[in-house]
Amino acid sequence: MTYAEAARQIANNYRQRVRNYEQAELDLFASCAEFAESERKKRDLLLKQAKGAKVASNVLDEVLAQNEQIRQKLHLVAPAPHCKICGDTGRANGKYCECAVALALRSQAGEIGIPLHTFEDTDFSVYGNQTDTYKKLFSYVQTICTKYPANKKRCLVIGGTTGTGKTYLAGCAAQKILERGMSVTALTAFAANRCFLKYHTTFDEKKTSYLDPLLDCSLLVIDDLGTESLLKNVSIEYLYQVINERNTTGKLTLITTNLTPDKLLSRYGERIYSRIFDKSLSYAIFLKADDLRKSF
Ligand SMILES: [Zn+2]
Repeated sequence: MTYAEAARQIANNYRQRVRNYEQAELDLFASCAEFAESERKKRDLLLKQAKGAKVASNVLDEVLAQNEQIRQKLHLVAPAPHCKICGDTGRANGKYCECAVALALRSQAGEIGIPLHTFEDTDFSVYGNQTDTYKKLFSYVQTICTKYPANKKRCLVIGGTTGTGKTYLAGCAAQKILERGMSVTALTAFAANRCFLKYHTTFDEKKTSYLDPLLDCSLLVIDDLGTESLLKNVSIEYLYQVINERNTTGKLTLITTNLTPDKLLSRYGERIYSRIFDKSLSYAIFLKADDLRKSF
């Protein structure tokens, strides 16, 4: 689903809810004498007022309050838009609203390419004698996700050897951002690389659909950076473009990797390295199975 289609679907859903409400109103008007009577009174008074006649405000207030009471009794509640930002139009501030972007991304297969978990349900006992350190680490990442986008840093690198729970932690971060109603794209470095290649080799209108999901989501998770094969003129170039553009547009990028900072530097080069380790832009945490304390 494209953003435009998602926006249309959101607007159509809302219109349908309004139509259902209006139909229910008509049905009750025909079937419930009490409601019909109250509606007539209300409409008469409002019409009078609209024509410029004096209507005592206490009389009008009372009729309106009574009408409201009957409506509540009949469960006749005007539908409110689900999205307060765009009022379910799917567009806000000249762009597609976050709700439309999120819907479009949800519809695209594989957008959450890692298992989701919650911070709240995490069992820290599996971390043995490092339980307290892990609790601190998780709460650190949770705070980043809870504060976003109020916080300044836009990149979070979680490095460490296999079995240190990096992907699990990334799954918690993704879930937290989703819970907050924002959009997430999470994929392995391998899958991201495939998107870069598709983008690079496509020359029709579908081209942007390969990169947009990585650029437009509130949180992008790239899991296991370093396990993908490096394709010439593709892997590093588009990875840089994605990280850089997301920094510029103020979006959060989370990268997990088995590689040490040194290995990241030699594999991806100075430009990417300095982007993801720039202390003013990036949080970097390196987990060591035997000594987590020193790493964040
Ligand atoms: Zn919206």
